[in-house]
Amino acid sequence: MTTIAFLGLGNMGGPMAANLVKAGHTVHGYDPVPEAVKTAEAAGVQTFPTAVEAVAIAEVVITMLPSGAIVKKLYDEILPATATGALLIDSSTISVADAREINSRAADHGFAQVDAPVSGGVKGAVAGTLAFMVGGTEEAFVAARPTLEPMAGKIIHCGESGAGQAAKVCNNMLLAVQQIAVGEAFVLAEKLGLSDDALYDVVTGATGNCWAIETNCPVPGPQPTSPANNDFKPGFATALMNKDLGLALDAIADTGSRAPLGEHAAALYRSFAEQHSDLDFSAIITTLR
Ligand code: NAD
Repeated sequence: MTTIAFLGLGNMGGPMAANLVKAGHTVHGYDPVPEAVKTAEAAGVQTFPTAVEAVAIAEVVITMLPSGAIVKKLYDEILPATATGALLIDSSTISVADAREINSRAADHGFAQVDAPVSGGVKGAVAGTLAFMVGGTEEAFVAARPTLEPMAGKIIHCGESGAGQAAKVCNNMLLAVQQIAVGEAFVLAEKLGLSDDALYDVVTGATGNCWAIETNCPVPGPQPTSPANNDFKPGFATALMNKDLGLALDAIADTGSRAPLGEHAAALYRSFAEQHSDLDFSAIITTLR
């Protein structure tokens, strides 16, 4: 079994670390927020007062943090203190450019490192069924895999460093566009006198089907487990979708890509997030009525 440092024990990191403990690993955790520390300790994580102490004897170091700026700052602190031969895994959602930068900083200190962002939300983190999108060398991917397994439903090697974040940003831009389009279809259908159930039944068996309608249906009724049945309690919060679309806009600008629908979706979510950042992102339908 492996000694794993887990830095960032929040909504996602807390349950991910708990699943590593359940799998028999020794987990050394750090988070500046006392509440997060308390919950992690109750799940069997041994916590430390600083990140530097948490990584001291770890064979694997996992970060699950809010932003690229925080990951970069923390890497500066921990890289000189990390044990020789350790593998670094960053599962935070950050930009491709930041992911490549920390990979190269890790390499300068002699460490293998992968970006391994996830999808599946807090539910997937608790259940140990997250989808990991991994960027890094084949050797680093093979080394990371056994550590990821207790937290994962699916692990995909997407390519070299940054490729995991590239996959994540493209998927979430696509999802944002689809969720808005599904909302538009329901509003139009209502105005045409078509019932929500009829539209749901037709689309989920037809060419317009996608996760945004089948699972995350933005009207109550047709899919009883979707957030629309629960006052749009997330789910996937608008604040997080807004953050991911900000990363998509950066990626579009950096690469000179054309993505008019992605850009429009980002503008709509930016404005929706000003009032409703804590609602599930499918609640964007309420702005269309
Ligand atoms: P969160 O805010 O609940 O947790 C982040 C944790 O990092 C907090 O507990 C915070 O105290 C801690 N932290 C901040 N600075 C730190 C530092 N210097 N050292 C150690 N810990 C530090 O966020 P979350 O929902 O757990 O998300 C974490 C990452 O996962 C984000 O990048 C997010 O975009 C991504 N993500 C979240 C979801 C989701 O559904 N919540 C889904 C997929 C991906």
